[in-house]
Amino acid sequence: MDNEDLRLAVYHAFAAGRIPRIAELAVELTTMQSSVRAGLISLANARHVVLGADGEVVMAHPFSSIPLGFSVMGRTALWWGGCAWDSFALPHLLPDQGPVLVATTCPACGSPHAWNVGTAGPPEGDQVAHFLVPTARMWDNVVRTCRNQRIFCSEECVDAWLTATGEGRGDVLDLATLWRLAEHWYDGRLERGYVRREPAHARNYLSGVGLTGTFWGL
Ligand SMILES: [Zn+2]
Ligand SMILES: [Zn+2]
Repeated sequence: MDNEDLRLAVYHAFAAGRIPRIAELAVELTTMQSSVRAGLISLANARHVVLGADGEVVMAHPFSSIPLGFSVMGRTALWWGGCAWDSFALPHLLPDQGPVLVATTCPACGSPHAWNVGTAGPPEGDQVAHFLVPTARMWDNVVRTCRNQRIFCSEECVDAWLTATGEGRGDVLDLATLWRLAEHWYDGRLERGYVRREPAHARNYLSGVGLTGTFWGL
């Protein structure tokens, strides 16, 4: 079994709305579960996937097997949406599924929010995204990073959440900037031979979508 075959099997399961489990991957790739486990560890070392303590896939960005504050409903599939960035990326990666319904609750006040997100342009809305962890540290604990890339009602709700949690302010994005950030970030990820982008080394992409400042390494 080639590791790129394994990576694609993980991604294509998620794309179809299924969570890729080691047992099923082994059947699909006609190999031993121990080979799948070893392959997943090397994919995790290359940051293509994130594994849980049991060795199963927790995240294969922008897909997630665990709730991180968002759900995304496509035409025929339903996903945990990962973070704000990942949730907004799904319709770009899977245009046949869109526009998708992205839903969340404000971490500060619990108000529900939902948007139809497609590829034609950013959704309407005056909510804001708050990203807690700067690009240089995003992979220190990437589940924590994604868990803290959320959408709030307003700047006031961001401030209330920062006060309540004692966290330091990260960066605040409007929905149009979030949508542009998500638009091409994961391009090619469902195709063979994908070369991943590293947030800390993506200055041109990040500045091109309108981000600025040391938070983004710019
Ligand atoms: Zn709120
Ligand atoms: Zn994320």
